[in-house]
Amino acid sequence: MYFSKLLAPTLRETPAEAEVISHQLLVRAGFIRKSSSGVYTYLPLAQKVIAKISSIIREELDKAGCQELMLPIIQPAELWLESGRWNVYGKELFRLQDRHERDFCLGPTHEEIITDLVRAEVTSYRDLPLNLYQIQNKYRDERRPRFGLMRGREFIMKDAYSFDKDEEGLAQTYQQMYDVYQRIFTRCGLMFRAVEADSGAIGGSITHEFMVIADAGEAEIVYCPECDYAANIEIASCQPSRFVSDDNPIPGNLEKIKTPGKTTIEMVSDFLSVAKQELIKTVFYQADDEVIVALVRGDRTLNEIKLKRLHPCVDLEMASAEKIKEITGSEPGYVGPIGLDRDSVKVYADNEVKMMINAICGANERNYHFINVQPEKDFSVTMYGDLRSVEEDEPCPHCGAALIKRRGIEVGQVFKLGTKYSTALNAKYVDENGQENLLHMGCYGIGVSRTMASAVEQNFDRDGIIWPVAIAPFQVVIVPIDINNDRMWEVAKNIYNELKESGIEVVLDDRGERAGVKFKDADLIGYPLRVTIGKKLIEDGLIEIKSRKEKNGITIKPEEITVYIQSKLGNM
Ligand code: ATP
Ligand code: MG
Repeated sequence: MYFSKLLAPTLRETPAEAEVISHQLLVRAGFIRKSSSGVYTYLPLAQKVIAKISSIIREELDKAGCQELMLPIIQPAELWLESGRWNVYGKELFRLQDRHERDFCLGPTHEEIITDLVRAEVTSYRDLPLNLYQIQNKYRDERRPRFGLMRGREFIMKDAYSFDKDEEGLAQTYQQMYDVYQRIFTRCGLMFRAVEADSGAIGGSITHEFMVIADAGEAEIVYCPECDYAANIEIASCQPSRFVSDDNPIPGNLEKIKTPGKTTIEMVSDFLSVAKQELIKTVFYQADDEVIVALVRGDRTLNEIKLKRLHPCVDLEMASAEKIKEITGSEPGYVGPIGLDRDSVKVYADNEVKMMINAICGANERNYHFINVQPEKDFSVTMYGDLRSVEEDEPCPHCGAALIKRRGIEVGQVFKLGTKYSTALNAKYVDENGQENLLHMGCYGIGVSRTMASAVEQNFDRDGIIWPVAIAPFQVVIVPIDINNDRMWEVAKNIYNELKESGIEVVLDDRGERAGVKFKDADLIGYPLRVTIGKKLIEDGLIEIKSRKEKNGITIKPEEITVYIQSKLGNM
């Protein structure tokens, strides 16, 4: 490809609305342009990266016996009513009507459509297991589309759905897909971890998320440096630890003290000169139509996913100040578990709260807190459990080593659905004995466009993107520093043709721009290798070759270039 013909409009300025590196660089390097909020055009360079990621995915899935198909994006409401999701999916679902006022949606995911297909076409155990996938645009009217391709409203997903005879078959397929995902993201050149994750509404189910380690990630994960334990912070289990204050070991008597204007954990601990560990954090939640209370130690982060497990509900949000006042008679900031009417409010407490001695909590009265609170004695708890988020350096639940905590971008997820959709849609097969059984399903997603953005988040420097070679839009750029110099241009063209003939993906920067401009664009776009044809050719008959990652290149004779590049690419 000649650069002059390539639609790659690079920009010198960072776009104002781009908060994360991948968004900034993909726009600046001429890969993407925004159409509307969360909706992007993929320019030719981006399309090449998408094609490479997609072909890695296809190769690995096909090798594992999966079959590619293409399901409709427009899906009829009837199927979503049948699965029960039409009314619970909420505002994220893009809904539309046809000219006959029939309801449809744009597919955010395809469990309904595929189950409908399979229940009609697959009837016998002989057709199982079956694993079908597609790579396609998905539509989700996200509450906060942001970070460019990271959280779009239209995005590219690979979604696969497996159908097995029974739980055992599903377990095998699940493990196989887990292994396939490891290979896919390794081949993409990404640093990632597969983590245990929350299965949400489908209790008891198993799921893993594949997380690219990057600061821009919206998720937090912990992993063990010694063993293979890794989990999303949402579910990572915590071992309770006791905090013993040196000056307060003997249980004292409950006492109410004045704490004027001290409404936060920080303020109270400063005011009383005690550690945050000595306070009880009390949070009121609206759980569907019930108000509940959650307690954790003052220095801990309350984990809402874990709370939802102790108290199953659909919607869980902080209770309003009015509601809190109605229940406690106090405003938020001074609330605590003592004296609450246990018949009307359930109290969930983290395991560590039980271990506290002489704790401090709000007195349910403006400007007052209690000190010398003894949890088991001074208030009662509906249920104790693991309610907090794990912190860095806490012991690994498997081997005890200090855990590492990082941010992660979810690029993929594998999920054991079991019979959730086959039950709802009555999808059955006939087994060896002529009996009808429900199909056991799994679903497996990869955010293809998000994977592209994640690769940038992990591979960049101040000059631009540094593509992992397996997913780079082109492998090599050739930069003749002066296209009007006949010898330089001649050699550049020859090398270009030779590389192309050897199957290497190459761009020739044939523009009449200054060398500095061409170098800047080459660094910004992030080709793994750059061949420079400049003064050294005239002086010594040599050309320079440099990898994007390294500061300095080497010089070689033009006739050695193809062999050199082939071996270099092979080792990258
Ligand atoms: P998230 O928690 O980030 O919203 P999800 O759990 O809703 O993701 P899935 O339904 O499992 O996502 O979708 C499969 C994959 O599609 C995800 O692992 C992610 O890589 C990608 N994905 C999901 N939502 C988006 C989005 N809005 N923009 C880009 N990629 C997305
Ligand atoms: Mg989502």
